[in-house]
Amino acid sequence: MQIFDLATADLEFVAEVEARSHQKIRTCYQCGNCTAGCPYTFAYDYSVSQIMRLIQTGQKEAVLKSRSLWLCGSCQSCTTRCPNKIDVALVMDVCRHMAREAGYATERSVKIFADSFLASVERHGRAYELGLMAAYMTRSGRVFTDVDLAPQALMRGKLPFKPHQIQGREQVARIFERFRKGGDNV
Ligand code: SF4
Ligand code: SF4
Repeated sequence: MQIFDLATADLEFVAEVEARSHQKIRTCYQCGNCTAGCPYTFAYDYSVSQIMRLIQTGQKEAVLKSRSLWLCGSCQSCTTRCPNKIDVALVMDVCRHMAREAGYATERSVKIFADSFLASVERHGRAYELGLMAAYMTRSGRVFTDVDLAPQALMRGKLPFKPHQIQGREQVARIFERFRKGGDNV
């Protein structure tokens, strides 16, 4: 069992997570409901309720270096189960952003997929599946990931060879531009 030294509590970290998520982390009383409903607990290094406790106790490094942040599927099950109405999924999301900013990406392939997805949306106004797949494979080096599913997807018209032209593509690109100008959360 890992032991954390409460004397190293980073209270600024606690305040920042609360400010950015608009959630009162201190009201979590460790009932464990969020963890009980989380479909990815089996793969996490810290369960979602443990992440909440680590935040409460200001364990910034442990939280931001956690694999759990990158494996979270944002399914909201934890949020709907919390008796204190804490938006736990949002807290996970905020911590994931903070981990990115701090240069931690413990699950590199998840980060590469997220980056490739966002680049595709920025360029085409929506995700272009085939281009996204190609970008992910090139950047991650995982050439054979899910390739066996491609023939079925192609037959069902789920992988068009050209991106769909959508209206408002420029507006979507401007959202990305504004985001880059307005903050350092990239
Ligand atoms: S949002 Fe993330 S942490 Fe919450 S239950 Fe779903 S996978 Fe687990
Ligand atoms: S469900 Fe809410 S109160 Fe219970 S452990 Fe999770 S975050 Fe804390």
